[in-house]
Parts: sequence; structure tokens; C-alpha cells
Amino acid sequence: MQQNFDNEVLYYTFPEFEQYEDIVHGFSSREGGVSGGFYRTMNLGINTEDSMDNVKENYRIFCDALHVDVNKVVLGQLTHEANVRNVTAEDAGCGLWKPFTYEGIDGLLTNEPGLVLTATFADCVPVFFYDPVKKVVGIAHSGWRGTVKEIAGKMVERMVSDYGCDVKDIIAGIGPSIGMCCFEVDEDVFYDFTDLLYLGDGWYFEKDNGRYDIDLWRVIWCTLTDRGVLPENITISGICTCCNHDVLFSHRATKGRRGTMAGMISIKEK
Ligand SMILES: [Zn+2]
Repeated sequence: MQQNFDNEVLYYTFPEFEQYEDIVHGFSSREGGVSGGFYRTMNLGINTEDSMDNVKENYRIFCDALHVDVNKVVLGQLTHEANVRNVTAEDAGCGLWKPFTYEGIDGLLTNEPGLVLTATFADCVPVFFYDPVKKVVGIAHSGWRGTVKEIAGKMVERMVSDYGCDVKDIIAGIGPSIGMCCFEVDEDVFYDFTDLLYLGDGWYFEKDNGRYDIDLWRVIWCTLTDRGVLPENITISGICTCCNHDVLFSHRATKGRRGTMAGMISIKEK
């Protein structure tokens, strides 16, 4: 991914998405916000002990950096389910400026310009979607549970069924999150993944201690290609949040004493 700076704000973008001028997207870092302590500085998590004034100010700062309207932020949730919502104008502000009107939603899709689809992360995997033909954007929160439940695949299925997308047109970006280098799990978690019969080899490493390192990026890549997304249309950032917890929030690296980052994607208003 590419690093971008806007004043003090550091954020990441996929060049594969940036080539399309009718959308804007980004993934935040710790840099450029107003929060203190272990929320330093760009905490975009709504359910933390950080003050909501700080969090809202951080949203204003980050949205200014991306040139999107903070009032039109629509938040996904962190329920580790695989439910997807087709977001419309009436959802603008949900989760940040007004209460949620939906539950159990970890994936957001829209074809309406101006809405800022937003999901939050601190090790879980952000997956960005765009169809440049049908002009549909999406973002999914794919923690390990959501990855087992194939939320990335559900996003693709909904883009096809609800928006008429051709799966071959869809591009996907797998953003900063915990890498195989740091995602060690026990046998129970490992066996949840083995239900995904298309995984093949290369998505895990069995260790001498009886535990497993799992490559969530590879698993999600396999889910996307299983649904027909073309391999050349998928980008993996390769940035591990746990290894880079000085600039990115990592739940595992800090044992939960951390803020939250956000991924955003929006169709520009004409
Ligand atoms: Zn790592």
C-alpha cells in the first residue's frame, strides 16, 4: 500500500483503487489525531473509554484528510458475523452521529455517492471492494471468525445479486491487519478453518508447540477466488498491525490496551 500524509495524518491507500478517480478510500494509522494515552493519537473506536469528543474530532480530521463528508460516515459493527447491509442515504451518520438502525452488520455496500462506508479495526482484516463498471463500493470487517464465516465471499455474492456486478469486474484490497507472522492460534481455532474446503496448502504453519500460525490474508484470498474474483484483481497489503504497533493499533501486541483504526471507502459526489 501507499503511505499518504496530510498534515500530521498518516494513512494508507491501494494504488489499484486510487487509479479510479470516482472513488476515495483510505486506512488510518495512529498518526494525526488528538487522543492521548494508549489511544495515541488517531483513535476511531466508538466503544472505548476515550472521550467521544476526541473520537469525533479524530473522525473530522481523518475525513478532512480523505476529502469526504464526516456527516455521511456510516459505521459497520464488530459483531464477527457475516451479515452485509446495502447502505442508503437514510443510514448517513449511523453509529457516529446517530444510533445504529441495524444490528450484526460487519459488511457495508453502496452505489450511492457521498456515503462514507466505514469499518474499524485493530488486527482484524479490512477488505475493500470496488466494481468500476457498476460503481459499487464496499468494506468488510473480517476478523478470524468473520473470515471463517466467509464475509468476504458474502460481499462478492451480494455485489452480484443485489447490484448486478460481474464478478470479473470486482477489485478487492486486503488491508493492514495481523499477519501470519503474529497470528498464532490453538487447535480449536485451526480446525474451524478446515471447514473451508477450497483452501489448499500454504495458509497455515503447524508449530512444534502444537499451535498453528494462520495466514488470514491467504484464507481471504482463497475465499475471494472461490467466488470468482480474478487473482489479478486482489491486492494484499502485507502490512502486519502487530509487527508495526508503533504506527498501527494492534489488539494482540498491546493486550487490548489500544485505540482503533478505520477503513473508509466512498463514491465521490459529482
Ligand atoms: Zn507480524
